[in-house]
Amino acid sequence: MSSSDNMSDLGPGTRGVLAGRREEWTGTPDHPGAVVNPAVWRASTHLYPDMAALRAHPANEDGRFYYGRRGAPTQWALAEALTQIEPGAAGTVLYPSGVAAIAGVLLTMLRPGDVLLMTDNAYEPSRVMARGLLRDFGVETRWFDPTSIGAFEAACCDRTKAVLLESPGSLTMEVQDVPALAAAAKARGIVSVLDNTWASPLGFAGLSHGVDIVAMSLTKHVSGHSDCMMGSASAGPDWYRKLRLRSQGLGLVVSPDDASLMLRGLRTMKMRLEAETASALAIAGWLEGRPEVARVLCPMLPGSPGHELWARDFAGGCGLFSFVLKGGSSAARDALIDALALFGIGYSWGGFESLATPVDPASIRTASAWPLAGMAMEDRFGVRLSIGLEDTADLIADIEQALGAWRAAL
Ligand SMILES: *Cc1c(COP(=O)(O)O)cnc(C)c1O
Repeated sequence: MSSSDNMSDLGPGTRGVLAGRREEWTGTPDHPGAVVNPAVWRASTHLYPDMAALRAHPANEDGRFYYGRRGAPTQWALAEALTQIEPGAAGTVLYPSGVAAIAGVLLTMLRPGDVLLMTDNAYEPSRVMARGLLRDFGVETRWFDPTSIGAFEAACCDRTKAVLLESPGSLTMEVQDVPALAAAAKARGIVSVLDNTWASPLGFAGLSHGVDIVAMSLTKHVSGHSDCMMGSASAGPDWYRKLRLRSQGLGLVVSPDDASLMLRGLRTMKMRLEAETASALAIAGWLEGRPEVARVLCPMLPGSPGHELWARDFAGGCGLFSFVLKGGSSAARDALIDALALFGIGYSWGGFESLATPVDPASIRTASAWPLAGMAMEDRFGVRLSIGLEDTADLIADIEQALGAWRAAL
């Protein structure tokens, strides 16, 4: 759904409140804007008043009733809202999940024989997609060290068509120099795609930092409540049009009920991200002073890897970071995670509730090492925390007793 409204002179909080709330979507012709939120339009069939209207209808226009696969006001409102919070975007395509968004984007730009470059800290299902789906369609993928422009340039060849960036990487948290990588890609005619799930447009405005397409798993911060899955891709006018056509070709739709839940989450996203960032920073700083911890991987924390780039480029953070235990064993790390009472054990993140998962990237990385440069070989047992909205002091007390369980299991 493309946007004609210009909200660029408003702050991100204000935009988050106003975005997507066109009066024709929140009322009837007699009562425009009568309610705050767009209704849930459950519709496959859209009816025409007569044959003349059916014949006159522009079949493929944004924001017009046509058939359920093209959406209805609930989905249009969410897509428009996401466009309005992404500076530089002409439109946003919705996908049934974050993985579907990445697949939809890559299948729009890649053709048999093309080479895709992918950052080595990419979300694992993105790597799996490269080795499976994309390889089956004749696309070769090469991975590069996320923190090295030289490695990116060395990996380029004359068949390189696109690069997938992810910053910070959602396990190991390396921050990429996205503006420099996007510029280096552009200079070679390579399309840059950023998986911006960690920061959201509130933390990092990808298109205005030079990226061509910004993809996001809405499942995380936008939903914020761990009850709904969706993905998005936002871009300028040319890529938006291509993404939309490819998504239609793939028959991708999202339900109006889910779109409504995402709109609800979007309204409080700024506040949740701010609270989670403050709590995560306090917990990361506390962990840094603990004798059990070898390294805190939290770019928001001064002194942590990637902090300088983060401070230069980012307007905000979130509750997701990792830390690495000083030596130990996989079993001791399991004991730590099992001992946590306030952290769920489970995938995903960005919900109101805190989560903990192990970080074991050694076996999946191919272009750069884990443990990271400067870390000892025995310091390889990482833990990823997604900090939710519980009180920080309660979370710290919980981690403190779980570190006791880790020591006892050594
Ligand atoms: C979760 C996640 C995805 C995939 O999103 P789903 O909605 O779970 O399919 C993509 N990228 C990153 C960085 C993620 O954390």
